[in-house]
Amino acid sequence: MSVMTEDATLVYTPPQRRPDGRPDPVARSHRIVDWASAGVGLGMGATVGLAITAETRGSLTAPGGLATFGGRLAGLTGTYLLLIMVLLVARIPFMERAVGQDRLLRWHRRLGQWPIYLLTAHGVLITVGYAEQARTGAWHQFGVLLTSYPDVLATTVGFGLLVMAAVTSIRAARRRMRYETWWTVHLYVYLALALSFSHQLATGASFVGHPLTRAVWSAMWAATAGLVVVYRFLVPVARSLRHGLRVVSVTPEAPGVVSIVVAGRKVEKLAVSGGQFFQWRFLTKGLWWQAHPYSLSALPRPPYLRVTVKALGDHSDTLRGLTLGTRVMVEGPYGTFTHHSRRADRVLLVGAGVGITPIRALLEDLPPAVDVAVVVRASATEDILFRHEMQGLLERRGGALHEILGDRHTARIDARALRRLVPDVAERDVYVCGPEGLTASILSAARRLGVPEDRIHHEQFAF
Ligand SMILES: Cc1cc2nc3c(=O)[nH]c(=O)nc-3n(C[C@H](O)[C@H](O)[C@H](O)COP(=O)(O)OP(=O)(O)OC[C@H]3O[C@@H](n4cnc5c(N)ncnc54)[C@H](O)[C@@H]3O)c2cc1C
Repeated sequence: MSVMTEDATLVYTPPQRRPDGRPDPVARSHRIVDWASAGVGLGMGATVGLAITAETRGSLTAPGGLATFGGRLAGLTGTYLLLIMVLLVARIPFMERAVGQDRLLRWHRRLGQWPIYLLTAHGVLITVGYAEQARTGAWHQFGVLLTSYPDVLATTVGFGLLVMAAVTSIRAARRRMRYETWWTVHLYVYLALALSFSHQLATGASFVGHPLTRAVWSAMWAATAGLVVVYRFLVPVARSLRHGLRVVSVTPEAPGVVSIVVAGRKVEKLAVSGGQFFQWRFLTKGLWWQAHPYSLSALPRPPYLRVTVKALGDHSDTLRGLTLGTRVMVEGPYGTFTHHSRRADRVLLVGAGVGITPIRALLEDLPPAVDVAVVVRASATEDILFRHEMQGLLERRGGALHEILGDRHTARIDARALRRLVPDVAERDVYVCGPEGLTASILSAARRLGVPEDRIHHEQFAF
């Protein structure tokens, strides 16, 4: 079905302003990323400096001196990177707003292997260096380090936990395990960090007898721990107590898909944009300990919030049996899949399956002046989630709904199909949410049709 659109004139975005004259959040996000990268780079420089200034010509030329220096350098830089990794997933609001959780998690994952390499090098080089210095064998020295040096045994246990978290994060291993198992193993990283901290202060050449560096390093660790406690624990708990959310309805939308409406106090204070998601924790037996991300399927209508969930695994499947009145904790809102990242005044929204959920909320949140075209793919008309709601929204604001029906092999949306449906696609911001295959083909079609990278936005439903 196609609905005629008003003939809106395309407004190109000047460099630092959005079409509505407000500061461009994309440019702001680039600035924040630049500043944060510069800060991380400076911190890394200072960490390397810390390792170098702890050495003297004599210590470097002594037996085992170079290996020991290499080990210290690897240890300091590896731990510094671990702290950065923790900060990337600490849910710090300005980072979440500017960068988006999916991108932060991607960076966290990309960085992940380096601390492991560096901390392995730390252990090996320190052992070799100390063995050379003591003119003894490396295995013997390893035993001495474990049994006679303060906190080395605890740190070695912590390192084992880190390796466990890293191995379970390898894609092939992760695919074979439940998300909850992977997540629980990951929690041990905090224990690993705690175990290694006192070892650094007790034995690190940069800290022993250097109260200033000791204080600065400790402050950095304390700040990181504080941010994690505040944003991953205290804020969600405080927010949940403030809003007192409870389940008020669970309604089937399609086979295996339910909408859950929760109600609470001061929901309007949540400052949600259409397309964003929360981490949801349903406080009922078997579910209370796990939080899962689900996007809002409509803008909040105080006192109500609605999510729509497709049963894909144990958590999502259990939600259809939720008892009314169940208490709910939310963490968020998160995500940059909103109209705030828009550069142009024409928008194309593409959704399929349960990926229509954030598309529906985003459509509701688009300013009236934005020219919108919506493309949805489903096997049959009755499988299109929120078809009537989207038709209603488009009738009120103007805009076209294109339905591509059929199975995923025949009803493909390639560059040709996209251009036929939406001839001016190259001048639009393109938002995509759906199964991996559809998302990949829309993204590649959009690029082939000339949509610039900063006007392509997609939400992935699996981290
Ligand atoms: C930003 C975002 C928004 C989402 N919005 C919706 C939505 O509106 N409606 C909807 O039906 N689904 C949504 N999802 C997907 C939903 O989170 C997963 O389907 C659900 O968590 C699966 O959990 P499970 O225990 O049922 O299945 P499992 O079998 O445990 O997991 C299935 C897959 O989902 C992913 N997953 C599981 N738990 C999590 C988690 N806590 N965090 C991140 N990924 C996880 C894993 O990649 C896993 O392979 C969203 C996902 C993300 C990342």
